Amino acid sequence: MRLLLVEDDRMIGASVQSGLRQEGYSVDWVRDGAAAELAIANGVYELILLDLGLPRKTGLDLLAALRRKGSVLPVLVITARDSVADRVKGLDAGADDYLVKPFNLDELSARIRALLRRQAGRASPVIEHGPLSLNPATHDVFLDGAPVNLSGREFSLLHALLEHPGVPLSRAQLEERIYGWDEEVESNTVEVYIHSLRRKLGAEWIRNVRGVGYRVAELP
Ligand code: CA
Repeated sequence: MRLLLVEDDRMIGASVQSGLRQEGYSVDWVRDGAAAELAIANGVYELILLDLGLPRKTGLDLLAALRRKGSVLPVLVITARDSVADRVKGLDAGADDYLVKPFNLDELSARIRALLRRQAGRASPVIEHGPLSLNPATHDVFLDGAPVNLSGREFSLLHALLEHPGVPLSRAQLEERIYGWDEEVESNTVEVYIHSLRRKLGAEWIRNVRGVGYRVAELP
């Protein structure tokens, strides 16, 4: 899952980025509102973490512009402004959730998971697809009740495919999901992870869609 972090405070930004990377997210970090707008226009993010007090364009202006364009991207506001009036303003401008600094990284992580599953149209914290289940909070994967041991990138890739089981994702889309800007993408890397997922789950679970990419197998 690829997230955009918009935060001008270097210490907070660095700690949120590294904490969420450890959770398996790919996190791009920009430090002002104008850079955020450019990054969002790339359209590769599943969620935005947005500070409100930002140079060049405020978080509230950014959010309002995003919603005016009809974007349904989940936005979690992280800010030191903690008056009730500010929170109401943020939510009314189109934020989906609100966390006041200083916050706990585990709570941030849990709120991100909640927003992502709502976005995917799920209420259950565990993603189930027939005998296959994946828990984004614990990183557990089970097949027919037996645990499957996946690396971080294998997990991210399977997670991306399972969020929308009917929709094939291209190699480029999968790369975007599992790598941030500053991480070097090795060549053929998606194929390598697909290969190891097939080895661990059984080849039938990950289907090639000719000329498009990959999707998880349909259930009978
Ligand atoms: Ca700030």
